[in-house]
Amino acid sequence: MRSSDATRVYFDRAADQLDLSSNMRQLLLTARREVQVQIPVELDSGELSTYIGYRVQHNNARGPMKGGLRYHPQVDLEEVRGLAALMTWKTAVVNIPYGGAKGGVAVDPSKLSHRELERLTRRFVDAIHELFGPDVDIPAPDMGTSAETMAWIMNQYGKYHGFSPACVTGKPVEYHGIPGREEATGRGVGSLTLKLLSRLGRRLPGTRIAIQGFGNVGTFTARFLHDAECRLVAVSDANGGFYRAEGLDVPELLRYAQSHSGRLEGFPGGESISNAELLAVECDVLIPAALGGVLTEKNAAGVRAPLIVEGANAPVTPEADAIFDAGGITVLPDILANAGGVTASWFEWVQNRQHYQWGINRVRQELDQILGEAFEQVWQLASSRKVSLRTAAYMLGVGRVGRATVLGGIM
Ligand code: NAD
Repeated sequence: MRSSDATRVYFDRAADQLDLSSNMRQLLLTARREVQVQIPVELDSGELSTYIGYRVQHNNARGPMKGGLRYHPQVDLEEVRGLAALMTWKTAVVNIPYGGAKGGVAVDPSKLSHRELERLTRRFVDAIHELFGPDVDIPAPDMGTSAETMAWIMNQYGKYHGFSPACVTGKPVEYHGIPGREEATGRGVGSLTLKLLSRLGRRLPGTRIAIQGFGNVGTFTARFLHDAECRLVAVSDANGGFYRAEGLDVPELLRYAQSHSGRLEGFPGGESISNAELLAVECDVLIPAALGGVLTEKNAAGVRAPLIVEGANAPVTPEADAIFDAGGITVLPDILANAGGVTASWFEWVQNRQHYQWGINRVRQELDQILGEAFEQVWQLASSRKVSLRTAAYMLGVGRVGRATVLGGIM
């Protein structure tokens, strides 16, 4: 099942609980605008290669649309559509004044040189610069893109529209970004994992964690939970993973990945495991933090962790979600668990617009406060309505977007 179908299933469940009319459902499900553009790029060899880029602007009832930009071979309109809607509900769950959008280019960034990636990014901006901007739609990093990609976007956008650092977030700190943005998604995943463990009376030193994905989200989650005295028993990236029952040496893993272009292959401090084995590892918390759709009806029964925290977007299919629900496995959903990134992006946008800087302590403090409040609201709603944390999070998000839509008027 595609992420768009999964988001739809979760939306419908929340809409039933909220008793939304079919007309309102249709309005909330329909994207405002979807664009597909041609991106011709001259490769270093002098050859021409043409890529397809997408931007889906899902909903702006609560503010300018916000969402990442993904470079991955599997990107297509369906996937981007689902992820854009997910952003609308996510910004509403954490109650920041944004709507939702998402974009991407169907490309394997590891196959392009640095200069080719820069040319691709600038050509993509050439194609869509009239469609985004600080008050309209603000892109950010996602899989396959980085702070540097965002710097290219800001610079290229500025050639058309003048100095506009708030047109994109997740920029390098030295180029209108903010300290604390890069770590924010992982920090949020880590801090919400601790909140969930505390709520369930399971927060103990040595809590065993398994993380799939060791990119932006995975590394900062690992670092945060290691600092909180949890034990990282398994970790993986696209090429496979490593297991150590006594706990992997997280600082060593981080050093190893940094000196091997972000890859874990060949790490000497653990037993090699596959990505499939990682998902079934004996642990207390499983954190998928790579691709979507990795936990399905085929492998859900093999999961041995009692808690799953969705670092990635849409890692659990609705069929797997039902299996976890029936088996008493608690899932902290993506629209809450990984909302730290977009929340810190909002802080960056606010500071860019004010030409002012907060400092790391204020960023962390405000981030923890916003995520903590959202967690409490979702937890209370789930308890009072006797629904899963996912349905409660969607109820909160969809309900807020619905109310803003009615208050703004549709005439
Ligand atoms: P990233 O590109 O920095 O890292 C992705 C990691 O996943 C890498 O370690 C890669 O090797 C690994 N990976 C790729 N394919 C894999 C596979 N088939 N099996 C196992 N691992 C695989 O990406 P990221 O920014 O860390 O994003 C990860 C997930 O988190 C995505 O779903 C993204 O949408 C979501 N997310 C990211 C942010 C953010 O701020 N970066 C915010 C919210 C959600």
